[in-house]
Amino acid sequence: MKRPDYYDYTYDMFIASIDGEQSEASRFSEWIDAAERDGVYAFEAPRLGGQTPMVRARRGDGSELELLNFSSYNYLGYSTHREVIEAAKAALDRYGLGAASSPVQAGTSELHSQLEQRLLDFMGLPDRGVSLFSSGYAVNTGTISAVMKRRHHIVIDKSAHMSILEGAQLARSKVHYFEHNDVAHLKEILQQIAPDGTVGTRTLVCAEGVYSADGDYGKLAEIVPLAKSFGASVLVDEAHSFLLTGERGRGVAEAQGVLDQVDYFVITFSKALGGIGGALIARRDVARYVNWYARCRMFSCALDPAVTAGVTRALELGAGSDGAARRDRLARNAAQLRTALAPRVDLGRSTSWIVPVIYGPENLTIPLADGLQRAGLDGSVMSFPAVPVNEARIRLFVTSEHTEAQIARCAAIVRGAAGELGFAKPERQS
Ligand code: PMP
Repeated sequence: MKRPDYYDYTYDMFIASIDGEQSEASRFSEWIDAAERDGVYAFEAPRLGGQTPMVRARRGDGSELELLNFSSYNYLGYSTHREVIEAAKAALDRYGLGAASSPVQAGTSELHSQLEQRLLDFMGLPDRGVSLFSSGYAVNTGTISAVMKRRHHIVIDKSAHMSILEGAQLARSKVHYFEHNDVAHLKEILQQIAPDGTVGTRTLVCAEGVYSADGDYGKLAEIVPLAKSFGASVLVDEAHSFLLTGERGRGVAEAQGVLDQVDYFVITFSKALGGIGGALIARRDVARYVNWYARCRMFSCALDPAVTAGVTRALELGAGSDGAARRDRLARNAAQLRTALAPRVDLGRSTSWIVPVIYGPENLTIPLADGLQRAGLDGSVMSFPAVPVNEARIRLFVTSEHTEAQIARCAAIVRGAAGELGFAKPERQS
């Protein structure tokens, strides 16, 4: 059977407009229409409820599917936790739907100040300051472009998130990339910037706690002290690790013993805390400066009150015994899924709750995403440019709320798809 043309999608197919008439937009739309007509377009299927381990979703043809949900980063289940929802509802009643003003004007409420304090208490960094943003993405773009300028240097791990790259572009600093987690390469770059061994704080080294496409940990125990030994500043994005690991749940910097040395902590509220928004934790004067000089903060509406209250409640729960129990379940669940999948498919470097199944060629993406959903599983399928060409993958996000049976079922569906579409590892001869 002839494979439909839309299987051969690549991101760059629709970027350039050849005729100046925005034909890329109409050609892209036609591509989606063709996949929808054949009933295989699995992306953007609206959810009919919250991000619980089982969800219903409606496909383009109107059919409704009951899905095992391994595609949301509601890692600890707080997005749908009763007490979190109650806290958000109470704030909604008192403050209304939106903040309706910039945070440096009238958009800051006592809820925001309270969340800032809770974050510092939880991190055990009472002398630092907090700058709240209405998305995690904006924390990176806003902070980096506020504190870094032309002629400064930004040195970024090659696997870092788009928001870090975009922040560096906005800053117009000189950008360098070191190979993922490659400490020797980082050192080489820092030596090139300053042959005398002192780069100064206007060189910023950026790394992450857990990398979102591969699910591996940043080598912070080595990267952070190395950067500091050159006098550089360090930004660590703990989007996928805040509240999820470390002795008290503070993240990978805590787990690897470098918490005190990090200059800029980036935290998102959209993952373990189950809401939306984010925070920078930095030196108090720096956070205050960022409040005013991060353009996407100053010129944008403050975080909405209900989400702020919900996130605060989630943090209170996550900081206590409830959080500790959920972190234990998360680690156990992630290990179960990795163990069930590792013999049959390529999990890359994953050692965390983000379990990527690397299937390779982009042209499997459409049939695979569709096939998984029809088999009852929603995984987060991603390809270039989020990951390198030919390293397309299904990202499976494990949560503390999945049951053993759900994890086993997820693994069985993925293994089945790997056999059918030809990306399974050969069976071991025993
Ligand atoms: N940083 C990292 C490492 C991320 O993976 C993401 C999003 N997944 C963000 C920042 C942006 O966070 P948000 O979705 O909360 O805007």
